Amino acid sequence: MFDEAFENDSVGRRILVIDDEESTRELLKLTLEADGYEVRVAEDGYRGLEIFEDFKPEIILTDIKMPGLDGVEVLRRLKDRGEDVEVIVITGHGEMKLAIEALQLEASDFINKPISDLALSVALKRAKEKIWMRKKLNEYMVTLEGKLKDAVDEIHKRHDFEHKLIETSIDGIIANDRKGNILIFNEGASRIYGYSKEEAINSLRVTELYPEGEARRIKKKIYSEEYGGPGRLVNYETMAVTKDGRLVPILLSATLIYEDGKEVATVGYFKDLSEIKKLQEELVQREKMAAIGQAMAEVAHGVKNILYGMKLGAYMVDKGMDAHNLEKAKRGWNLVKKNIDRISRLSLDMLSYAREKITERKNVCLNDVIEEVCELVSERLKKEKITLVKNLQDGLPEMILDLESIHACILNLITNAIEAFPEQKERRRIEVYTKLIPNSHVCVDIIDNGRGMSEEVRKKIFTPLFTTKGAHGTGLGLAIVDKIVKEHGGYIEIESQFNKGTRFSVYLPVGEGFHSAPGDLKTD
Ligand code: ADP
Ligand code: MG
Repeated sequence: MFDEAFENDSVGRRILVIDDEESTRELLKLTLEADGYEVRVAEDGYRGLEIFEDFKPEIILTDIKMPGLDGVEVLRRLKDRGEDVEVIVITGHGEMKLAIEALQLEASDFINKPISDLALSVALKRAKEKIWMRKKLNEYMVTLEGKLKDAVDEIHKRHDFEHKLIETSIDGIIANDRKGNILIFNEGASRIYGYSKEEAINSLRVTELYPEGEARRIKKKIYSEEYGGPGRLVNYETMAVTKDGRLVPILLSATLIYEDGKEVATVGYFKDLSEIKKLQEELVQREKMAAIGQAMAEVAHGVKNILYGMKLGAYMVDKGMDAHNLEKAKRGWNLVKKNIDRISRLSLDMLSYAREKITERKNVCLNDVIEEVCELVSERLKKEKITLVKNLQDGLPEMILDLESIHACILNLITNAIEAFPEQKERRRIEVYTKLIPNSHVCVDIIDNGRGMSEEVRKKIFTPLFTTKGAHGTGLGLAIVDKIVKEHGGYIEIESQFNKGTRFSVYLPVGEGFHSAPGDLKTD
């Protein structure tokens, strides 16, 4: 009975296209009109809603991302008003999050840009199917009222009809009783799970349809108020376990069925999200590969430079020895050593950047860490005639930190400050402050009066392998600092003026999980 409806194509003839790109708009209008649809177009969400008022389209095709009112917002407003309209969203590269959001708002479908004829016609067919079913159901309800006399017969038919609705729904529908026995298992459910209807109803229990423990968690969620309940669960993302043991991501809505005030069954409706997730993962993967490729190219470049330095050094050693020129051999040998240093610095930095998350957290006194780092660089400060001013607040609370990473963090920032002075700079000065912002953060300031940064450089400093120091830098220092501070739940502020100096402020949270040493806090 569905086919007949689609042959004469009686529903879904009025389509509104909303897209900010004129070419897409016009192309869709032409194609759809050629297929006999009545089409109106709008260039943005506001205009779209206006046209909706008098045109009353049955289907809307809307771009998801638009200036002004975007597709998701148009959808939200229409659904909020309870409008009877099927909305198909058009998504571009990298907009999977929005697409999922749209599906959660009950968009009828989504299609990707560039729009293929096939995807468009499938989406339209599905939308029309939904419209048709809704219309028939309405008509049916109306006639039903007029036919109370034949109530028994009608109920029978209605049962048939509802049965058909359930069976042919594109979404999966499963109902189970309180004991977990399956009562309804439609075609959509078979498609996702791989069980036949008979298998499911005779031998499956609802707990086997989800990962271990998940059925119980879902049940709990249905009872709680958080997810549209109690008694309801709306658009919850979870996993289905298929007959052959695969995990399939699904979007689940569920509701409890009562009879005479007693709970008798649970009905779940779900959509298969695997296609959409796959696209999303592919996208992330592609972006990752691009980033790795770029990083490898840059590492290779850095290593190549170091190798040149070593080769040149070795060449000078050879030549010096041949000519019994010890001076030359020594210069060559120094060059080799310098490059050994460079490559070991690079590999250490790469290791600490690649190191997995924080491993160990313990009570740490931040001021002690800073003192230790200052001690470590004191020789270098003296040699480079830099005055170090420390201003560390007494009685900072002890914090739970990963000592080694915080040490690396401070060392990197102070090293950068030391390296920030131009050759001819006089009165070189680095200041280190710590202060407590009560109940919130401890702040570490590292301030230098060095060369500062241009806005250009400032934007890129956290990018791994970005350096302005050529052979002398690895470009990993601040990438490491950024990662560590984030892992500790903190953040960084930077102020820099070209040729004047730079301030790095690191804020580390005090509070949850962080202890203060008893009696150690100043009360002023
Ligand atoms: P590296 O020190 O190996 O170059 P970093 O990641 O530590 O790598 O720093 C990246 C870049 O940020 C540096 O090359 C430099 O241009 C800039 N930078 C960092 N700290 C300072 C600072 N205190 N003053 C000026 N520029 C800085
Ligand atoms: Mg550095």
